[in-house]
Amino acid sequence: MTSTSTTRAAGESPRPGSEQQLRDMLRGYGLRRTAQRLAVLHLLTEEHGRHLITAEIHERLVDSGTDVDLATVYRTITTLLNLGILHATAHPEQATSYGLAAESHHHAVCTRCGSVTELAPGALQGTLEVAQRATDFQVRDSVITIHGLCVDCQAA
Ligand SMILES: [Zn+2]
Ligand SMILES: [Zn+2]
Repeated sequence: MTSTSTTRAAGESPRPGSEQQLRDMLRGYGLRRTAQRLAVLHLLTEEHGRHLITAEIHERLVDSGTDVDLATVYRTITTLLNLGILHATAHPEQATSYGLAAESHHHAVCTRCGSVTELAPGALQGTLEVAQRATDFQVRDSVITIHGLCVDCQAA
């Protein structure tokens, strides 16, 4: 079963992470499509599978030619976070990092460098089923976080 749009020919639907798709998403949330919001979303989409801390997001935006200061990046992230477009991973000894919340996923957090790698939901499906049976919970949504050393830190 495929859904087709009447206004777009096959193959022309917005590519995930494309300018058009990001604009549509912001419009869907009733947000003004500021350059900064688009730039933050674009960056995190390009980084698929990774979370970034505020300073990294700022640095990469500046590197790619976006004229934005750290305070604006901070405000932009807060706005997107409050709407549930982004979500945060906190670690007691690391700065909070942010990623797209669009597709559900789990997190593997490195306890040394703080990097966050996303895991596809299917990867921990068995764990969820065990948790569900053990608690009699009807699981609706979950983000499981595992802690350890990332590949780079294992090699260091
Ligand atoms: Zn995430
Ligand atoms: Zn690491």
